[in-house]
Amino acid sequence: MILIVGGAGYIGSHTCVQLLNAGHEIVVVDSLSNSKYESIKRIKEITGKEFKFYQIDLLNKNELELVFKENKFDAVVHFAGYKAVGESVEKPLKYYQNNITGTIHLCELMSEYNVKKMVFSSSATVYGIPKQVPIVETAPLQATNPYGRTKLMIEEILQDLYVSDSDWSIAILRYFNPIGAHISGKIGEDPNGIPNNLMPFITQVGVGKLEKLKVFGNDYPTVDGTGVRDYIHVEDLANGHLKALEKILASTGLDAYNLGTGSGYSVLELVNAFEKVTGIKIPYEVVDRRPGDVAVCYADPTKAEKELGWKAELGIERMCEDSWRWQSLNPNGYEVNELVTNTKTKQ
Ligand code: NAD
Ligand code: UDP
Repeated sequence: MILIVGGAGYIGSHTCVQLLNAGHEIVVVDSLSNSKYESIKRIKEITGKEFKFYQIDLLNKNELELVFKENKFDAVVHFAGYKAVGESVEKPLKYYQNNITGTIHLCELMSEYNVKKMVFSSSATVYGIPKQVPIVETAPLQATNPYGRTKLMIEEILQDLYVSDSDWSIAILRYFNPIGAHISGKIGEDPNGIPNNLMPFITQVGVGKLEKLKVFGNDYPTVDGTGVRDYIHVEDLANGHLKALEKILASTGLDAYNLGTGSGYSVLELVNAFEKVTGIKIPYEVVDRRPGDVAVCYADPTKAEKELGWKAELGIERMCEDSWRWQSLNPNGYEVNELVTNTKTKQ
């Protein structure tokens, strides 16, 4: 039995589907602070499988403990955290409290209930301003904003935990830029308000919710002056969790892995790919650079291939096609604003 914390969210929901399809039994915990119960329903719809869902905040340790009392877990996949860089600069304590205290509560209970295996969602943001690309896992770590610092601190906490008790088995996954959606178009990324990230911004322009894309700077030292990132299909990312889970279930240790494709695309290359695949024109204007953005960031994913047997398979066209299918079938995301207030558990 695998506990998926933050499983109602974007990456978590895709991972739930893959774990269920691979025959794992799962329990999902999510506060729904940045997601909707509808995504849980859709995971069940896609897979035809049932699982327990608890609407619980990691900050509420007593409620979380009930989940450990009621279920016997083999491992935990931990996605739960706030992730908006800009908001983290404005409200650092909110981020430290949620991401770090939440993780500590989870680890304390895992330790107490002897569930010492975890896959943790980290981010390429822990590399700060990379000195070299492609980025290898041994590159210096440095965060440039409170969100990034929460990821870095959690990585260090997990490292200390492992040093203190070598029964732990931990895979830290450093994601590059996840985009795309499940091929059914039933689950996908559902940002609150105006998207901060490029792909949801593009798809919302495509569907007519936003007028035009603002390209943050075209004077970077890149192919066309716009920022370069390693976009990875969320299905490939989800598969990385499956592979990491297999590894931690079979061994002890702590390792960090880059999950990226190893290729970079500029903002305008992504816009062009999207237009080509969908036939939809994305009007854009170039504006100032966004403070804190790096010019180029892409992964060296060799370690994950060697040690996890994982490699990204889906290309930029599939990423665009699937992002668009999700957005066009669900112009308002999960839109069903159902409140889960009457009960803590929904089957
Ligand atoms: P998301 O917001 O869609 O999913 C996170 C889920 O965690 C949400 O459903 C939210 O309701 C839940 N959550 C947050 N705080 C919680 C708490 N205290 N208790 C219980 N549930 C809580 O985000 P995502 O894009 O799926 O990202 C998942 C993880 O991956 C996050 O930790 C994020 O920082 C990390 N990550 C994301 C990206 C990205 O670009 N999406 C990149 C790198 C790393
Ligand atoms: N970007 C942009 N306009 C937007 C959002 C993003 O030009 O509305 C650019 C951004 O400067 C970066 C790339 O797109 O070069 C990816 O940005 P995103 O926020 O998706 O990812 P991150 O910067 O966190 O890697």
